[in-house]
Amino acid sequence: MTTSHVPMFAQVNKYFDKAAAHLDLPPGLLAQIKACNSVFRVSFPIKRDDGTIEVITGWRAQHSVHRLPTKGGFRFAPQVDEDEVSALAALMTYKCALVDVPFGGAKGAVRIDPAKYSAGELERITRRFTYELFAKNLLGPGLDVPAPDYGTGPREMAWIMDTYSTLAPGSIDALGCVTGKPVTQGGVRGRAEATGRGVYFALREACSYPDDMTSVGLTPGLQGKRVVVQGLGNVGYHAAKYIQEGGGTIVALAEREGAIHNEAGLDVDAVMAHRASTGSLLKFPGAVEIALSSEALELDCDVLVPAALENVITSDNVDRIKAKIIVEGANGPITADASERLLACGTLIIPDIYANAGGVTVSYFEWVKNLSHMRFGRMEKRFAERSNERILAGVEELTGTKFSIDARDTATAAAGEEELVNSGLEETMVAAYAELRSIQKARGVDLRTAAFINAIGKVAMAYQQRGIFP
Ligand code: NAD
Repeated sequence: MTTSHVPMFAQVNKYFDKAAAHLDLPPGLLAQIKACNSVFRVSFPIKRDDGTIEVITGWRAQHSVHRLPTKGGFRFAPQVDEDEVSALAALMTYKCALVDVPFGGAKGAVRIDPAKYSAGELERITRRFTYELFAKNLLGPGLDVPAPDYGTGPREMAWIMDTYSTLAPGSIDALGCVTGKPVTQGGVRGRAEATGRGVYFALREACSYPDDMTSVGLTPGLQGKRVVVQGLGNVGYHAAKYIQEGGGTIVALAEREGAIHNEAGLDVDAVMAHRASTGSLLKFPGAVEIALSSEALELDCDVLVPAALENVITSDNVDRIKAKIIVEGANGPITADASERLLACGTLIIPDIYANAGGVTVSYFEWVKNLSHMRFGRMEKRFAERSNERILAGVEELTGTKFSIDARDTATAAAGEEELVNSGLEETMVAAYAELRSIQKARGVDLRTAAFINAIGKVAMAYQQRGIFP
């Protein structure tokens, strides 16, 4: 990461102001939308494994309560502060509005480097932070629902759910207090992959418009596009994997320890297996090593996917960025000034509030599943398969031709939970891109501004229709 400190909430609000200039909305209403409604900061002690006591600081920001519950990730990160949490909560408000997920925006963080704590210590930190939120009425299926983010995953979400259930005995909807849980603890199939899969859909949609590809000097379609991915965590790994499966060539991968480059393409799963067995992606057979990981961002490529942390493309390195398309897998990876410079050079930026919205979209599905207490597809799967069998039998009778066993199996299969979730995710990402692109063309703006115009318009309508209490 670069060392430039860029206050992130101010960055988000620059994007907001740029988009708001295209909307005919009262300044007071815009101020109401823009403000972060509340930020809770807490310091609490935990006992380390060696018996010493350490005071830990955490935050939960709720940016907008025009829809409830509020929703947003919960991260473990060593440099996080109130500004960052507020900015990320604001992005969640706009992201949810953009993909029609009926939540307000929130974000939570605990300032630690999780690599420096044992699993037991991380569990105590997570449970105590969960208690602090619960005690202030800042956690619950109808109030505020966290999800995985940088440095956290299904394990931490299961601890949050278990702590909440313990504190709220008899709460029948307790599973819906957090999303991104393991599937065996009320999670939904497809959530772990959802953000990265959504990044892939975003890129696939962007590459599908011949005019837009001509503008950046590329041919339509993902096939053969040379792609660099930074960060091989939840978002980066899945994005790289689905982009590769979709026909893209992953020419470089960057992690904390360095980056690897191979113009012929890197097999993502083989690199992951190598990293799991050696502890590093360096020394991957056939790849050239880049010792300074951030230099991978500057490689000659068609598509760059920053999927680690914010502020990785700043005025320090923007002039060396060569990618024609940047898909923001991470939240806020490009500073507002750097973003303007890239746009001026004709780079197509697919903004975070759209590109990584697959995560919250499938979190919404998980929350709905938890409130309905039933797996998607359970009621109708077999019924649909029987109906399909009857239709096939009718076709066979009419034509006098029998289907092969394979053709019969394919035609009669009905969707289970995973297929339904993936279909809902794809529909959401495809529809949202079409909406964004039409605003982009109609207004003559960049995609990020189009995304903010769309989101602000929807949030404004919600605030106007609800009015102000009292
Ligand atoms: P993660 O912790 O699973 O992965 C992050 C990865 O980035 C890790 O592998 C880490 O080692 C790597 N990394 C850290 N510093 C790096 C550096 N200097 N260079 C290269 N790699 C580096 O986190 P995640 O959940 O994948 O989140 C990544 C980003 O995506 C964050 O900005 C997060 O807010 C955003 N996001 C996540 C989700 C989600 O569902 N998890 C949803 C939307 C947005």
